[in-house]
Amino acid sequence: MQTVVSGIRPTGKLHLGNYFGAVKSFLHMQENYNSYFFIADIHSLTTHPTPEDLHGNVKQVLAEYLAMGLDPEKCTLFVQSDVPQIPELYTYMNMNAYLGELERSASFKDKVKNQRNNVNAGLLTYPVLMAVDILIHKADFVPVGKDQEQHLEMTRDFAKRFNNMYGVQCFPEPDAYSQTGKLVKVPGLTNNGKMSKSGGEGDAIFFDDEDKVTHKKIMRAVTDSGPTEMNQTKPEAIQNLFDIMALVSEPSTLEHFDKLYNSCEIRYGDFKKQLAEDVLNFVRPIRTQIQDIKADSKYLSDVAAQGAAKAHESAEKTLKEVREIIGFRRFY
Ligand code: AMP
Repeated sequence: MQTVVSGIRPTGKLHLGNYFGAVKSFLHMQENYNSYFFIADIHSLTTHPTPEDLHGNVKQVLAEYLAMGLDPEKCTLFVQSDVPQIPELYTYMNMNAYLGELERSASFKDKVKNQRNNVNAGLLTYPVLMAVDILIHKADFVPVGKDQEQHLEMTRDFAKRFNNMYGVQCFPEPDAYSQTGKLVKVPGLTNNGKMSKSGGEGDAIFFDDEDKVTHKKIMRAVTDSGPTEMNQTKPEAIQNLFDIMALVSEPSTLEHFDKLYNSCEIRYGDFKKQLAEDVLNFVRPIRTQIQDIKADSKYLSDVAAQGAAKAHESAEKTLKEVREIIGFRRFY
């Protein structure tokens, strides 16, 4: 079976965009691949979180991914810092990563521009750590967004360079994983880009929010004074709400409101009320699960321990090989 590796940023609460844009593909992968999903808590140190925030966010995303259906029996779900072989391989791979190529990375350039007061070495070598996350499990595939293509290319370069340097075929060069199922860009409620945590107050629909918070956000979503011509094209803000409805509602519901829009009879209040009800029906069972899992420390610790053990085994196998190749051969 082919291996796929993907990282999860410990950003705290997840929203509908995360579900339809990432988690759904993970659910597909765990059925079809030898899958490693890890919470990238070492990466997140580049932004200097407090220990409480870091731990709380790791716990939150772990509980949320489990609540959404990641199954520790089907995949390896682990916390990056639980696997010490990762920082070990990172140290070795840093010796073959060059300042010029690291400085050329688009994400590093972006950080230098936007985060002037914290341009730490971890940011510079971020692509090396990303490469290690992938190479340590000898992944065949990595699901990457457009913004991550350069990092995958660097991973391939690092793998090739190591193999060439020592004349070995240790690391396969991973390919981009192309999603077979349908992945969508979920629009936000307040801006016309994609739903995002940083999209401002009221933009994102979080799974772990109370019903009334979500209800209010949807009822407050910006609309207009209504269509004036039959079958007119929907303005972006209206189309966005229809797009969200297409994800959570019955097709007949969507069709019903689409017809009302096209005949200029739509009442946005009714439309948003229905959308809120359908969104809540969708998120509520997952929220209950999130809360149950968060309250069950034993389950969380068992899952983390099981994931760490599986990730350890795979990582240690690679590391044994790497230490031998490099020439770290024990005298004792
Ligand atoms: P983030 O924590 O924002 O980096 O997102 C984590 C994952 O969710 C990434 O794979 C994103 O591509 C995906 N994601 C985030 N927001 C959206 C969205 N509005 N629509 C689709 N996918 C999204």
